[in-house]
Amino acid sequence: MISGAMHIAETSGTRRRAASHGAAKTSLTQKILILDDDRLVAQTLAAQVAAEGHVPFVTLDRDAFFQSLAHHDPDILIIDICMPGHDGVDIIRELGDTCAAQVIVTSGMGRRMIETVLRSAEHYGLNVLGALPKPVRRSAIQELLARAETHGSVRSGSPDGADRTNVGADVCKALEQGQFESFFQPKLCLHTDTICGFEALVRWRHPNFGIILPQMFLPQIMTQGLEARLTSAVLDQACRFLRGLKNRAPRVAVNVSAATISDPAFRRTLDSTVARYGLTPDRLIIEVTEVGPEALPQDAVEALVRMRMAGYVLSIDDFGTGVSSLQRLVSVPFSELKIDRSFVRGVARSQETREVIHNLTRLALSLEMFTTVEGVEDESALACLRDLGCDVAQGYHIARPMPAAAATQVYGSRSSG
Ligand code: C2E
Ligand code: MG
Ligand code: MG
Repeated sequence: MISGAMHIAETSGTRRRAASHGAAKTSLTQKILILDDDRLVAQTLAAQVAAEGHVPFVTLDRDAFFQSLAHHDPDILIIDICMPGHDGVDIIRELGDTCAAQVIVTSGMGRRMIETVLRSAEHYGLNVLGALPKPVRRSAIQELLARAETHGSVRSGSPDGADRTNVGADVCKALEQGQFESFFQPKLCLHTDTICGFEALVRWRHPNFGIILPQMFLPQIMTQGLEARLTSAVLDQACRFLRGLKNRAPRVAVNVSAATISDPAFRRTLDSTVARYGLTPDRLIIEVTEVGPEALPQDAVEALVRMRMAGYVLSIDDFGTGVSSLQRLVSVPFSELKIDRSFVRGVARSQETREVIHNLTRLALSLEMFTTVEGVEDESALACLRDLGCDVAQGYHIARPMPAAAATQVYGSRSSG
């Protein structure tokens, strides 16, 4: 046994039948590593975790924690962020983005402090599950552990979740062979509770590695100057998908960088694709991604204005993550403001986040824009966003991005007509 680590039980990696809130359900036993310098608190937490059918390991200091981490390969870490000598912030930095476990932060220091630490954990690439303010309530643990099961499946084996495989960057050949495929993520109208559209999110269907997410290949696409070709493939798939829906209501959003928007060839491709599928421009949302601190180049601004005049819907993506957000709002006639998912996490428990979102929806309204929130991962966030006046929600809680055929089926079952 690891020095300083108290092993409470040993039956991990199995599916168990657990009685929770009276209802029996099948769930996964998780190995949970606890770090808290207060022995009593740590052991109480361990007892609560064990009562939920999981396997806790208790550590009281940094060294024992890292030893236990290496030895037990836990699924979940519960880390106290206030400890003498080593604070939790140091530990989170040390865990870095190599740690695959999901992280829960505990503290008695108040909500804002915890929020700040959670953000820095995300900054370091950790898979953050949430916070447990002290004194820890059993219902709060149960809620987070229930979320862990859903989140855990995101990291491995989900249709959308390719591993961080270091694929070779032969994107040009992949483009020629038609290996890029748009998945479609439904968007839920919060006023009617029906699906009002989709976002096209490209995946690489790799012959050896399976589905690969954009973060793994977009940089190569960009550096090799292939975005126009990729966008043209995505546009074609998006329009074909729209035509297949046989309904004139939903829209599909397509992501395009400012550089491609400035290219006159892009506009020609856009118009010809829309016409080829017998659609009108208002069925397409052009999402301009926030990248870097620089303002939109003037030729991109002009191209966007002309697109808007032609009837395309313009969206400012990842709003709030770049320093030019506000500048963009006034320079381009956007119709949709997409609030970045970093604002959505924690909306149910953070008054500050709610204030920001509420004021963004008011700002959007005053500029005759509608708001879409990305990254909605649970019911409490969805309910909160509805109360805050957001128009549209998108996120794993509603549905994950999925292949066109599946999205068509989902639309059939959850649309108004
Ligand atoms: P984005 O446009 O902001 O797209 C939203 C991202 O959030 C997608 O990641 C989506 O799968 C993910 N997402 C959706 N719901 C949730 C949720 O509830 N929780 C979490 N944690 N994530 C959620 P994805 O598909 O990996 O795409 C990443 C980015 O790649 C996109 O961010 C977009 O900027 C870019 N991208 C995707 N497709 C294209 C494309 O065809 N062209 C270009 N230029 N960029 C693209
Ligand atoms: Mg987008
Ligand atoms: Mg976004």
